Amino acid sequence: MLELKGIGASAGIAIAKAYRLEEPDLSVEKKAVTNSEAEIERFAQAVENSKKELEVIKAHALKELGQDKADIFSAHLLVLSDPELLNPVKEKISSESVNAEFALRETADMFVSMFESMDNEYMKERAADIRDVTKRVIGHLLGVEIPNPSLISEQVIIVSEDLTPSDTAQLNREFVKGFTTDIGGRTSHSAIMARSLEIPAVVGTKKATQEIENGKLVIVDGISGEVIVDPSEDAIAEYKAKNDKFLEQKAEWAKLVNEPTVTTDGQHVELAANIGTPADVKGVLENGGEAVGLYRTEFLYMGRDQLPTEEEQFDAYKSVLEQMEGKPVVVRTLDIGGDKELPYLHLPKEMNPFLGFRAIRLCLEEQDIFKTQLRALLRASTYGNLRIMFPMIATVNEFKEAKSLLLEVKETLLNEGHKVSDDIQIGIMVEIPSTAVLADQFAKEVDFFSIGTNDLIQYTMAADRMNERVSYLYQPYNPAILRLITLVIEAAHKEGKWVGMCGEMAGDEVAIPILLGLGLDEFSMSATSILPARTQISKLSKAEAESFKEKILSMSSTEEVVSFVKETFNV
Ligand code: PEP
Ligand code: MG
Repeated sequence: MLELKGIGASAGIAIAKAYRLEEPDLSVEKKAVTNSEAEIERFAQAVENSKKELEVIKAHALKELGQDKADIFSAHLLVLSDPELLNPVKEKISSESVNAEFALRETADMFVSMFESMDNEYMKERAADIRDVTKRVIGHLLGVEIPNPSLISEQVIIVSEDLTPSDTAQLNREFVKGFTTDIGGRTSHSAIMARSLEIPAVVGTKKATQEIENGKLVIVDGISGEVIVDPSEDAIAEYKAKNDKFLEQKAEWAKLVNEPTVTTDGQHVELAANIGTPADVKGVLENGGEAVGLYRTEFLYMGRDQLPTEEEQFDAYKSVLEQMEGKPVVVRTLDIGGDKELPYLHLPKEMNPFLGFRAIRLCLEEQDIFKTQLRALLRASTYGNLRIMFPMIATVNEFKEAKSLLLEVKETLLNEGHKVSDDIQIGIMVEIPSTAVLADQFAKEVDFFSIGTNDLIQYTMAADRMNERVSYLYQPYNPAILRLITLVIEAAHKEGKWVGMCGEMAGDEVAIPILLGLGLDEFSMSATSILPARTQISKLSKAEAESFKEKILSMSSTEEVVSFVKETFNV
């Protein structure tokens, strides 16, 4: 038995066999073959096997992820039946007497670069399909298994160095009982996705992939952040009992699923959810979310080879708005950069990606990308209660520029005969200290603020949110952070505007009584945190929380704040 310590990223306990998710080595060498006929047959067999595999994945995707994801695999199947691709490979094998993997790689590369250089979205998508399919067929030819998390059909715990948000989105909850990674923190995006999927997860163990072999029994305790490898009978029994207790607690929370969030003195606050994909809305509704307080649209742009089209985006935004049936949906425009990369944009590597060319900075420069998103958003606006939010705003001018582009796009759409809602609030993330300090000026311009503490804390404390070695400086309860939050809330309320918070702090049980006392209007968090938060708030008095505001703001350290809150509010 071996114990690893990491960061509990998604609550719950899972016990299952380890499944290691690793990028396979698909490098191919050129080899001469003597029997081209047999080589062509070997190629045909690999294509057939890939087709069978794709049929299974497609059926699975249709059931679990919906028609649009299944369509991706239909496109892959089409590629595998296309003589325009298959025949040149066969010809190359026989005319040059080379091995199938080499012939396929050369032929596919030629098509991919040809399609990619065309100024045509459709052809660019075909290039991506060919690349994916080639990987699969080469995997069969080399006898290398391509890990496919969506194909897992027994209960497992995924073990990997890191999980990309798109890997995470593919996990099938029926079989994937938990995951653990070497790197990452509570606010890294794989952790955030794990909470959306309600899969217990421990991230940042530093050595999960080093210590855990495929097939070994593993316990992942997402509450305490522990991972037990090869547990004893006693440890299994202990963790099963801990899990039963957790499930009991969940059942208790579930009683409030259809209730509003009201304090003991009758004050209502809004509990909203953060989502990354339209599929997450189900969890929001099941957990009693009153709104979507943050839709991180960048996940639509990730795990693929080119930008999503206007239509793809329109479908996603419309789906979220429709599913929320008129409840508010705050959609954040593209926030790429930091730990969220888009390799296909070919942006130069930066020394400080979290301080670099990202989010609104990129959108104001690459206006085509931004305008496509705004068009899709505005067209979807008639299907629900849309609010649009710009990320990483540092100056009032950036907001004005972004807003004027939005109005320009709206005008164009109306001229083209599209319908656009007349009632769309436009707000900003407050996640850069300059914006918090100047909140009184911003409050005159925006309809709302949403405080992004994940970034606000890292920028205020100058402590990278991904770096475990400076994580002691990642202090949500530091009075410096609380004073910035207060500046924002007071400035907004003075102008009659509302303030939400969509950083992870909003769902934190120590932060909640403080934020209630500071007057926060909307708390947006991982869906699974909503019911515990509602339970907690329903036992708090807003007037009492407010009475401690000055005292807390005059404290000098995190430790002082935490011990006061724990004692006073029984957290
Ligand atoms: C934040 O910075 O607090 C936030 C909500 O955005 P993200 O975590 O996506 O950077
Ligand atoms: Mg942020």
